[in-house]
Amino acid sequence: MSDFLTNLASTGWGRTVTKQLGLPQPARLRRGRTLPQGPVVLGAAGGTPSLVRETLALLAVLPQDALVDTAATRVTETTEDGETRQVPAPYPAKIGALVIDATSATAIADLETVRGLLRPAMKAVETSGRVVVVGVEPETAGAPTAVATQQALEGIVRSVGKELRGGATANLVRVDLLTDEPTTPTDLASTLSFLLEGRSAYVAGQVLHVGHAAEGRVSEISSERPFEGQVVVVTGAGRGIGAGIAEVFARDGAMVVAVDVPAAGEGLSSVANKIGGTALQLDITAPDAGQRVAAHVAQRFGDAARIHTIVHNAGITRDKLLANTDEERWGSVLEVNLAAQIRINDVLLDASLPGGLDEGGRVVGVASTSGIAGNRGQTNYAASKAGVIGLVRAMGADERLARRGITVNAVAPGFIETEMTARVPLATREIGRRINSLQQGGRPVDVAETIAWFAQPATAAVTGRVLRVCGQSQLGA
Ligand code: NAD
Repeated sequence: MSDFLTNLASTGWGRTVTKQLGLPQPARLRRGRTLPQGPVVLGAAGGTPSLVRETLALLAVLPQDALVDTAATRVTETTEDGETRQVPAPYPAKIGALVIDATSATAIADLETVRGLLRPAMKAVETSGRVVVVGVEPETAGAPTAVATQQALEGIVRSVGKELRGGATANLVRVDLLTDEPTTPTDLASTLSFLLEGRSAYVAGQVLHVGHAAEGRVSEISSERPFEGQVVVVTGAGRGIGAGIAEVFARDGAMVVAVDVPAAGEGLSSVANKIGGTALQLDITAPDAGQRVAAHVAQRFGDAARIHTIVHNAGITRDKLLANTDEERWGSVLEVNLAAQIRINDVLLDASLPGGLDEGGRVVGVASTSGIAGNRGQTNYAASKAGVIGLVRAMGADERLARRGITVNAVAPGFIETEMTARVPLATREIGRRINSLQQGGRPVDVAETIAWFAQPATAAVTGRVLRVCGQSQLGA
């Protein structure tokens, strides 16, 4: 599923041609476990908070000499009317990322500090560079001005994301600091490393929440293979995004159980063979689908084996205007995309079931931007995907699951280059592809990396959340 314009714009003459024709110039995105090349600049607004500095120090992969700490070094600046003031030290002409700790920002004047830090970065940030702002949940910020200041960060980050070019992204992370269970550097580390690395290539203009995980639940993020020896089940793994998810989990050490309908058996076995996983031919709408998944896991890996992560990726579309949507079109989409996973979860969450979900396990759903904004001709699909979002919120708030260290989250992909989207008529496809800040469609691997980040043992402090993987698409916004 190649994108002609991205290929063209990555050559010297192609860039000239696309520029002269006024066409979008999508950049080739940095992907995988790669850090920005230039230095990572740390800034702070509203005092000298320590959370982000301590978190960056935990990221063993980030060479500490690549860190420019403007928060620690301030210089004196003389304003036009001759007054002097302390401002953050200037930073290099080319940078890999700017990370701003705005957790202490409580006043409108603190937003000026944010502007001062961001302004030089708009030109300095490299291709596929990063802007990450860390704030607190606005409603926990206290006085109305503090709440407004924290909410203002969202407007800033979403706008910056739309102004950055060359595949660079901006995202906002919200943490809990003023609550009984504040976010710690260990809670935040996996999210910050995900956002800096190429794994988050297609996550742009988003707001992520990181809370706090109970002692012992959150592990360090040093491993390149965080799922070593763990069983991960992926539904709809015979092709498309599901095949990409299976590949990423296998790369990261998991023993993958790839599930798909018997009709997709050929694709399914080729995916399973490629990644050294096992194939399970199963229609997830079967009433005993959960029991069959558990039985497969117990049979292949032994009675003591349990599932670390289940990814509910299988999904279908049966698009029609609502005026033409009959009971069958409605029911089949709701059944595959929503009802089946509720039934499977109920079975796998039985702690006594051999082959069920493990303590500290992960449930990850696949929603869609259609489920957030609705889409013409997709009432059934949007209902099912919005339902996934509701399910994740409800399960994420379930104390019984929290006590078992189980997190439940979902991704909401935008336009991803798959067989599903290749069937969309050319003109509609081009619009879907280009109307986002990165001017290109995402790849299955982009969705897969985000799901793997949710599932990592180190991401224990994120639950009940939905993250869009859409390049900051204006469709479904
Ligand atoms: P796809 O059609 O290429 O793959 C879906 C897979 O699910 C297929 O292999 C199919 O056989 C399998 N499947 C369908 N019904 C099943 C059932 N009853 N039991 C078991 N397996 C079943 O689709 P895709 O583009 O790879 O999408 C994967 C997921 O991502 C879906 O949930 C889809 O709604 C969602 N999504 C995709 C996009 C996109 O742009 N491609 C955007 C948003 C959301």
